Amino acid sequence: MTNDAQQSTERRLQFASDNYAGICPEAWESMAAANRGYACSYGDDPWTERACRLMRDFFETDCEVFFVFNGTAANSLALASLCHSFHSIICHETSHVETDECGAAEFFSNGTKILLVPGEHGKVDLEAVDHTVHRRSDIHYPKPKALSITQATELGTLYTVDELHRVGELARRLSLKVHMDGARFANAVAALGVHPSELTWKAGVDVLCFGGTKNGMAVGEAVIFFNRELAAEFDYRCKQSGQLASKMRFLAAPWVGLLESGALLKHAAHANACAAALEARLRAIPGVGIRFPRQANSVFADLPPGVVSALQAKGWHFYTFIGSGGARFMCSWETTDGDVEHLASDIEAAAR
Ligand SMILES: *Cc1c(COP(=O)(O)O)cnc(C)c1O
Repeated sequence: MTNDAQQSTERRLQFASDNYAGICPEAWESMAAANRGYACSYGDDPWTERACRLMRDFFETDCEVFFVFNGTAANSLALASLCHSFHSIICHETSHVETDECGAAEFFSNGTKILLVPGEHGKVDLEAVDHTVHRRSDIHYPKPKALSITQATELGTLYTVDELHRVGELARRLSLKVHMDGARFANAVAALGVHPSELTWKAGVDVLCFGGTKNGMAVGEAVIFFNRELAAEFDYRCKQSGQLASKMRFLAAPWVGLLESGALLKHAAHANACAAALEARLRAIPGVGIRFPRQANSVFADLPPGVVSALQAKGWHFYTFIGSGGARFMCSWETTDGDVEHLASDIEAAAR
C-alpha cells in the first residue's frame, strides 16, 4: 500500500465518537456560501435570521434560539438560566453534565449543586427524582429547581414520547424546569420517527441543547428556549462566558444547510442504521453481548477476553470507559456499510 492509501485505511478504523467525523457536505457548502462577501457580526446577519426561522419551523413553535460553540457551554449556560446558585439540578448519574463537563454547570451558575439519580439504561428513575425533591424541604438543602435529561442518552437509549410526558408531568408537579441535553437529539428524532415537537415542548421541555457537532457540523450547538421567559438576558450570559461568536454566520449557516436540505435527519438516520447493522452482526457472534438496548447510533458491546486488545492492535479506535470487556462503538454520518462490515469481521476473527 502507498503511504496515502494506508493512511486513508487507518482513518476509517474509527468508531470512537461521532465527533471524530468530518464536516458533512451540506454544512460545508452552506459555510462556503456564507463566506461569499461581508455580513454583519454578532448574529445580526441574514444567515442567523434564516437559521432561527428554520428552527422555529422545525419545532413548529415560536422558540428563542441561540447559537454557541459547544455542548458544554450550551448545557451549562442553559442550566444556569434556570437556577439560582442556591438551587439544585437533578440529573442521571451517567449524564454528560455530571461526568464530562468539568463542573461547568456549577461554575456558570455560581454554584448550583447537581444531585444525581439512578435509572435503568441511562434514563432518570422518576421515583428517585420525586424522592430527591421530597427528601428535604428545609433551608439547609439546595432547593431542586431543574431536571436535566439526555436524549438520546449517554448509553445510546431513548426516552419514548410517553416517557417524556411522564417526565414533564412529574417536573410540573414538582415545580422543576426541564432541560434536555440533545447532543444527539437528531438521532433520537430519526430513530423514533416522530415530530421534534413531540419530544420537546409538547412534553414539557423548557430548554433544549440541540447538537450540531456530532451530526456533521464543524462546530456549534443551538440552545432552544421553548419557555421564552427563561431566555431573558441569555444573550448577556453568552457574551460574558465567551460564547457570543462575532462571525455568528458561520455557526448559523451549517444549520441552514442541514435543515433546508433535510440532511439533518437523513444523516442521523444513516448513523442509526449503521449502528443497527453493527448490532445485528455482533449478536450473531458467539461470546459477544449487547449491553444496553441499541436505539440510536451507538452499540455498547461486551467482548470476550482479548478482543479489545486485538482490535486496538489492529488500529481500531473506540471507547472502553464502560469497564472490562465493554466497548462503545459510535456511528456517525460518515460511517459506511463497509466500515461496519470491516469492524464486525475483525471482531468475529478476534473472538474465535
Ligand atoms: C458530546 C456531548 C455533549 C457536548 O460536548 P462538547 O464536547 O462540550 O461539545 C453534551 N452532551 C452529551 C450527551 C454529549 O455526548
